[in-house]
Amino acid sequence: MVERSAVKILVLDDESFMLKLLNRILSNLGYSSVTLCDSGRAALEKIADADADTVPNLILLDLNMPEMDGIEFVRHLVDLHYPGSLILVSGEDERILQTTVKLVRAHKIPILGYLHKPVKPDALSELLESWAPSAADAAGMAKKVYTAAELRAAIEGGQLVNYYQPKVAVATGEVVGVETLARWRHPADGIVFPDQFIGVAEAAGLIDDLTKAVFAEAMAQAKAWQEMQLPLRVAVNVSMDNLASLDFLKFVAEVTAKEGIAPQNVVLEVTETKLMQDTRAPLEILTRLRLKRFRLSIDDFGTGHSSLAQLRDIPFDELKIDQGFVHRASVDETLRAIYDASLSLARQLNMEVVAEGVQDREDWDLLRRSGCDLAQGTFVSRPLLPEEIPGWIELWRERVRTELFPTEDVKE
Ligand code: C2E
Ligand code: MG
Ligand code: MG
Repeated sequence: MVERSAVKILVLDDESFMLKLLNRILSNLGYSSVTLCDSGRAALEKIADADADTVPNLILLDLNMPEMDGIEFVRHLVDLHYPGSLILVSGEDERILQTTVKLVRAHKIPILGYLHKPVKPDALSELLESWAPSAADAAGMAKKVYTAAELRAAIEGGQLVNYYQPKVAVATGEVVGVETLARWRHPADGIVFPDQFIGVAEAAGLIDDLTKAVFAEAMAQAKAWQEMQLPLRVAVNVSMDNLASLDFLKFVAEVTAKEGIAPQNVVLEVTETKLMQDTRAPLEILTRLRLKRFRLSIDDFGTGHSSLAQLRDIPFDELKIDQGFVHRASVDETLRAIYDASLSLARQLNMEVVAEGVQDREDWDLLRRSGCDLAQGTFVSRPLLPEEIPGWIELWRERVRTELFPTEDVKE
């Protein structure tokens, strides 16, 4: 955790009373390192003059300003290689805010979310908290880039560790399985997340070694759970590049057989964006995996440019609706439309549907109402170390009984 007073925040708004108000709210929340600017130009000058120690970690940005509006400001931020995050603050309606969020994301500037004016301290506090966990990145400013050689050494040296995030049945609360999420336990940098090394692995031709290491560990873990009478379906993320050679198919079949895991209890999650480029070799491998009864899942659905025909041709068992269309879908019409469309498409193709990024009770209730099959997200559980899973299952069952299905008879 980073001290709140150490988080450098810049507030940009043309109205001086808003600046004062936000400053007061921030100060009450313990954020004391705050800079106020009443024009985009002034803010950009501060950022251009700053060095790694003084550049803001976070900008609270008003969209509607007379000289330079928020969207233009973001374009200049990109030119300056601004390394921090953004929160939008605006009186504009939901749709405009949504569109702006997409624009900012397209520029690859992390955006924590947006706040409607008048700003509620609780809502602001929640967004600021969501920044805190990744504050380590900001402390070191731009994310560290790892070389292929470092990553190769890490894979060979066993520095990759698997975390497992539970997936539960929405109708019953039953724990159905887990998704394997790779982490790099770096000797100097601590836990490194996949967005910092999967791309490197793909570009450097290391993704086969990486996936094999992750998969083998996941299957050994599946066997351990099986022996503890915890028959969990275990999902592993598979990169499109893994599906270029038959070698992968052979590896998957051999490892599962060796550990005594039934293919029905193994899920291979493939990301849609990459999936749709060159499909011939992958199509064959996926089809053969399916014939062997492995479960195939299309990951992050809704974020790429999927062709419905291909979706129909590849025999997926599961569709994972991307977290971007799940969290807050109950209160946001645009998200809701995409969520509903994905759900109904999956239904027509007879696929099981998993909603990712289920973060709060509202998200969970939407899944219940809409008949989604499985839920995954921090509302259920963050990714856990394998030894944490049995204890979490106990707590989850208790929560199912007392909080989520209090009046019903729950199947264990
Ligand atoms: P994914 O497969 O879509 O995995 C879900 C990601 O969402 C995970 O991020 C998880 O920690 C995060 N998440 C879970 N619940 C919530 C929530 O409620 N809210 C929010 N905002 N996020 C949530 P993580 O672990 O950082 O992984 C990122 C991506 O990296 C994964 O996305 C997956 O595509 C990729 N990845 C992870 N492990 C592997 C791997 O072993 N091989 C390959 N090829 N890719 C991997
Ligand atoms: Mg996945
Ligand atoms: Mg996903």
